[in-house]
Amino acid sequence: MKIVLSHLTKKFPGRGRGSKKKEDVTAVNDFNFEIPDGKLVGLLGPSGCGKSTTLNLICGLQKPTEGQILFDQEDVTELTPQKRGVGMVFQNYALYPHLNVEQNIRFPLENLKGHEKLSKEEMRSRVEEAAGLVQIHDLLDRKPGELSGGQQQRVAIARALVKLPRVLLLDEPLSNLDARLRLQTREEIRRIQQKTAVTTIFVTHDQDEAMSISDLIVVMKEGVVQQIGKPQEVYDNPANLFVAKFLGTPPINIFEGRVEKGSLFIGKEAVLQLKNIPDQPVCVGIRPEGFILQADGPLSCALSRPEVMGRDVSIVSTHPASQNPAIRSIVDAESCEHLVGSTVRFSLNPRKVFLFDKTTEARILFETI
Ligand code: ADP
Ligand code: MG
Repeated sequence: MKIVLSHLTKKFPGRGRGSKKKEDVTAVNDFNFEIPDGKLVGLLGPSGCGKSTTLNLICGLQKPTEGQILFDQEDVTELTPQKRGVGMVFQNYALYPHLNVEQNIRFPLENLKGHEKLSKEEMRSRVEEAAGLVQIHDLLDRKPGELSGGQQQRVAIARALVKLPRVLLLDEPLSNLDARLRLQTREEIRRIQQKTAVTTIFVTHDQDEAMSISDLIVVMKEGVVQQIGKPQEVYDNPANLFVAKFLGTPPINIFEGRVEKGSLFIGKEAVLQLKNIPDQPVCVGIRPEGFILQADGPLSCALSRPEVMGRDVSIVSTHPASQNPAIRSIVDAESCEHLVGSTVRFSLNPRKVFLFDKTTEARILFETI
């Protein structure tokens, strides 16, 4: 099922009175986008940017200040959560501690009324199916307190799936898991999503997590959508400085630069020749893989140390025009053999270099000569 958000806005009233009254918080600001049927969409942004509020609006736990939510052609904006057919998984799982796993999963089915009411037999087979999807058959008799974090997470997902929801919403579902389990569980979520083909929104502040499993990512900042696209497209073509900085590990390197007579300068060094860009100060973003070690390369940095990362090497260096305290460039191990002295020189891969307006932080597209 396709989800359409149209001018969706949620404001929370500012607290306090009189002169102490704080401004309203616009947690979700005029969202207009479509989540295609059967896809997994990663909603990504720093803490407090409005991710949970967006999910709460979609599932109906909160009412929007303005705008509509459509499920396929149906306007669900005024429907109660129960009538929307949405499965939700919260960060803290919210399992019932006194019920065992089977009862927890079955719980949403017990309250179905009218034509939706299920027989005991139907409930059992639904629970079986959901438990099978998340592979927890052997845990059905246990209480949540007797499960690991990863297992509790699977139970929460099974409980969200048991009503055969039209939409699955996951709010930071992996943040309580340790690093290794997080990697494993995110693959698991991807597998379950592909198997059920249920339209899924996955909220996270972790770009790596969102990039690795999403069909599409939506990058948010302070309640405003910054960019929507396939993960690789957004990485390769960030719309603005915020998006460029938010995606990628190691992160993008940002330099103070300027365009002068068709040359891009970082410090005193002309690092690229540009076509048709007027003279102006710019922010220069260079992805770690955009640096090419070259003995007579135009960008010279002070070498701190090489860091070996398996097949690749990360060269750590500094430059007076760099905003990052350390510049990280990824090069292959062999080209590092010639690294001597205290200076390292690079040429740049122009496709990995982005320019941004100093004031608006919007991307400035350029072509090189
Ligand atoms: P995220 O999930 O991205 O961390 P939230 O959606 O929880 O962000 O919050 C977005 C903004 O809305 C924050 O500034 C938060 O303080 C505010 N907010 C969220 N819920 C409420 C609420 N019930 N009352 C007032 N402000 C809220
Ligand atoms: Mg949240």
